[in-house]
Amino acid sequence: MNATTAGTVIIGGGVMGCSIAYNLAVKGMTDVLLLERDVLGSGSTGRSTASVHTHFSTETLARMAWNSLLMFQRFNDVVGGECGFTETGHLVFAGKSDYARTIASVSLQKNIGIETDIIDRKDAAEIAPGFDLDDCSAIAYEPLSGYADASGTTLAYAARARQLGVRTDLQSPATSLEIKAGRVSAVVTSQGRISTDSAIVAAGPWSKDLLAPYGIDLPLRVTRHEVAAFSRRAVDLNNLPGASDIANQIYLRPEGKDLMLVGSGGPGEIVQNACEYGHRPTQGFIESVWTRLVKRIPIMKHAEYTNEFAGLYTSTPDRHPIVDQLGGIEGLYLCTGFSGHGIMLAPAAGTAMAELVLDGEASSIDISSLRMTRFQPGHHSGVEQKHIVEYGEYREYREYGADIVV
Ligand SMILES: Cc1cc2nc3c(=O)[nH]c(=O)nc-3n(C[C@H](O)[C@H](O)[C@H](O)COP(=O)(O)OP(=O)(O)OC[C@H]3O[C@@H](n4cnc5c(N)ncnc54)[C@H](O)[C@@H]3O)c2cc1C
Repeated sequence: MNATTAGTVIIGGGVMGCSIAYNLAVKGMTDVLLLERDVLGSGSTGRSTASVHTHFSTETLARMAWNSLLMFQRFNDVVGGECGFTETGHLVFAGKSDYARTIASVSLQKNIGIETDIIDRKDAAEIAPGFDLDDCSAIAYEPLSGYADASGTTLAYAARARQLGVRTDLQSPATSLEIKAGRVSAVVTSQGRISTDSAIVAAGPWSKDLLAPYGIDLPLRVTRHEVAAFSRRAVDLNNLPGASDIANQIYLRPEGKDLMLVGSGGPGEIVQNACEYGHRPTQGFIESVWTRLVKRIPIMKHAEYTNEFAGLYTSTPDRHPIVDQLGGIEGLYLCTGFSGHGIMLAPAAGTAMAELVLDGEASSIDISSLRMTRFQPGHHSGVEQKHIVEYGEYREYREYGADIVV
C-alpha cells in the first residue's frame, strides 16, 4: 500500500473499473487509485463470453452498445493493447411470440444509427449456412458485431491508465468506506486508509455487500450462468457468425477457428456468496444446451463437446445497469448491474462515468434512465416492461421484488 490519498478511488478492477480508470485519466484526472481485491478481471469479466452486439430494446442501452462497438473497432489504436475484437456479424432469431418485439427493437436501433436490419431467411441462410431457420418469424442481422477478449480489454484499459498515471493496487480489497456528514471521506483497505472525497463502486457481484453496511440496499441479484464450448473441427461450419437465439433461449459465438461457445438464456441460479459458487456447469446444462443448439444447427450433433465454465451476472430488476452518483452521499458513484452485457457496454459506460465524476453529468450519452432512484417506490424506471425482455427474462423480472415500481 503506497497511497494514503487519492482524488478518486475506484473499487473493483473488472472491465468497468478499468474502463472508468482509463477514461478518467484520458480526461485529465490521474490522481486515481484503483483497488482490486484479487487480480484484474478476476470477477465476472474473466468468465465472460464477451459477445459484442447492439441488440437492445431501449435507447440508452442501444446507444451505449453502439458507441462501445465503434470503440472496440478502434480500440487497439486508441487505447493500445489488444482487446481482441473480432468482427463476425451477429444474428438474432425470434420466434412468433417475439416477432413484434424484435421488429420494434431493430427499428429503434436503426433510428439511432445502428447498422442492423431485419433480413429474410434466404439471406440469413447465406450468412449462416447449416442453420435451420424454419421456426424464425424475424431475423435481425448486425454485420459489424462480433466478440472481444474480455480479459485483454480489461488489461489494456488498465495498462493505458497506468501509463497515464493511475495507480492500481491488486490484492487490496476495500473493506469499508468512511462517510462523514453525508460525504465520502475515505476508503479503507486491509492495509490502511486512503483519504478521498470520491469513491466509485464497480465491484460487480460484490457491490451489494460492500454498500449494505451504510444502509444502501442495491437492488441487485447475483446469478450463476453456464457456458459450454464445442469443437467445430469435425463439422463443416466456417465463417460462423454470433447469434442470440431467442427462440431456443441460447446464444453462441465462434471462439477462434475451431470452437463455438454456447450459453443459455433464462434466470440462472441465485448465488448468495460471490466467492463461492460452482465454476463447472452441470451435466444437465450441457445436455440441455446441446439439444437446443442442435435444433438450430443440426450438424452440431456431430460436434465434440470440449470444455465449459460458469460465472456470475449481477442484475437489477429491469436488467439495466446502475450508472449514477448516489443521492444523499456526496462523492459516492455506482457503476454496476450489467448482467450479461458488461463487456459490450464497458467502453461507453466508462466514458459516461468519467464525465459524471468530472463534469457532474454525462454528455456522451443520456444516462438518466440508469439512475438508482428508478427503483424507489413511486418512481418509474422509464424502462417499459415490454422492453425488458431478452432471452425470456420477462418472467424473472416480474417475480423480482414486488416493491419495485416501474
Ligand atoms: C458466463 C458469462 C457470460 C457473459 N457473456 C457476456 C457477453 O457475451 N457479452 C457481454 O457484454 N457480457 C457478458 N457477460 C457479462 C460481463 O462479463 C459482465 O457484465 C462484466 O464482466 C461485469 O464487469 P464488472 O467490472 O462490473 O464486474 P467484475 O468483472 O465482476 O469486476 C468486479 C471486480 O471488483 C473486485 N472487487 C469486488 N469487491 C471488491 C472490494 N471490496 N475491493 C476491491 N475490489 C473488489 C472483484 O474482484 C472484481 O474483479 C457474461 C458474464 C458471464 C458470467
